[in-house]
Amino acid sequence: MSALVEALAAAVGASHVLCDGDLSAWEVDWRRRYRGRALAVVRPGSTAEVAAVLRACAAHGASVVPQGGNTGLVGASVPDASGTQVLLSLTRMNRIRAVDSANLTLTAEAGCVLQTVQEAAAAHRLLFPLSLAAEGSCTIGGNLAANAGGTQVLRYGNARELCLGLEVVTPAGEIWDGLSGLRKDNTGYALRDIYIGSEGTLGVITAATLKLCPQPAARMTALAACATLAAATELLQLAHARLGPGLTGFEVMGEFALSLVARHFPQLRMPLAPNPETPWTVLIEQSDSESETHARGLFEGLLEAALERGLIADAAVAESVAQSRAMWQLREAIPLAQVEEGANIKHDIALPISRIPEFVAATDAALARAFPGIRLVNFGHLGDGNLHYNVQAPTGMVATDFLREREHEVNTLVYDAVDRFGGSISAEHGIGALKRDELAKRKSPVALSLMRAIKQALDPDGRMNPGRVI
Ligand code: FAD
Ligand code: ZN
Repeated sequence: MSALVEALAAAVGASHVLCDGDLSAWEVDWRRRYRGRALAVVRPGSTAEVAAVLRACAAHGASVVPQGGNTGLVGASVPDASGTQVLLSLTRMNRIRAVDSANLTLTAEAGCVLQTVQEAAAAHRLLFPLSLAAEGSCTIGGNLAANAGGTQVLRYGNARELCLGLEVVTPAGEIWDGLSGLRKDNTGYALRDIYIGSEGTLGVITAATLKLCPQPAARMTALAACATLAAATELLQLAHARLGPGLTGFEVMGEFALSLVARHFPQLRMPLAPNPETPWTVLIEQSDSESETHARGLFEGLLEAALERGLIADAAVAESVAQSRAMWQLREAIPLAQVEEGANIKHDIALPISRIPEFVAATDAALARAFPGIRLVNFGHLGDGNLHYNVQAPTGMVATDFLREREHEVNTLVYDAVDRFGGSISAEHGIGALKRDELAKRKSPVALSLMRAIKQALDPDGRMNPGRVI
């Protein structure tokens, strides 16, 4: 046994240091695009144990890859192939430490599964609004490290906006207790916000104090059929105007995206029959703090106005919680249907909402010209200006061949267009290994040098998740 492995065993107990056997659950990413090999998988049970692990790694010059639920989509949560990195899994740190109803905060350890955090808030009749399809397995530490977005961002913000304080272990093994539940604290640089979105490259998040909100009294959900994306974005404006802060979700799904769901999950019911004249389906969600009757009045008023103005051709309103769940299931099944369809190229992009119709028309056409037969799976969080503008190989072509031969060219075409339209190449999934080189090409030199200065200051030996982000 190496001296490092002995030190790790001393830090967390030998049974929580795994070196042999099948470690693929920690070494292979969710999309199965990145496969690494860890020197050891280490599973600490407390902040003090995390600090001891990091001190041991520092003493032996070993690099560390933090991991939560391993659902990240950019190849940032698994070790590289060198066999020298320590994979630090936070999943044993899964305690809710406190709920303060009067302060509207909840403090959770980093390895708490997102759904557990949501349930702990609900047990106090409160809402933790972060919500995404991986919520049954992703962790709050991973959500914050990736600054996850999800389906409620347009009302409640992304993970960053939902976090008031952090506890972090530095690469040297020091513990920073920043778990204040304060909404105002102007005592110098915003350390919390440096760690949020840092993808494990600066330190290890061990706990977080999160913002809670009142639970809505009623929710309304509908699917609406739009002829164009321009109509869908006009509908978004109308929904903002009519529902105000009650508008909590506004998702869009292209017809090919939904056809993949129909093909691979035929058991899911489609409340709106596919219609080539309305290739865009919008999912609208409203949350109301008054009552079901109040909610329904506003919601039906919105849909009637949209029909009158010709923004939608048809709509289906959920009449029960089960029907609402079923509508969300259609949306959440899209990435899963893509997996079933075969390897694909993901673009998690942000654009000014006003420019989305024009971006999609221009980029769809350019892709079709450059790669005949290419299939576009376009869906996402239209209310946030965030598209999952994904590409599936042409029918009849082996998907892995297409990716090997064409992925770089496809990315260049799409990301050049994103740059022209004033967008971002990563809206919510992060940079990781997948987009590191694109970031280096496309972010301004000044921004990159500021980022490098932060990395150098907080992780001077470059041992935290090396090769990711920058
Ligand atoms: P991991 O995958 O384990 O790690 C992600 C990153 O965080 C890595 O860089 C890792 O090193 C780092 N990290 C993890 N824990 C810590 C820690 N405690 N301290 C420091 N660094 C840490 N994302 C969205 O934003 N919106 C979506 O709608 C969305 N939908 C998804 C749907 C599916 C089906 C899947 C599989 C993923 C989806 N994602 C989405 C991706 C999203 O980033 C992750 O689901 C989630 O935020 C990552 O949490 P995790 O615990 O799995 O982190
Ligand atoms: Zn998303």
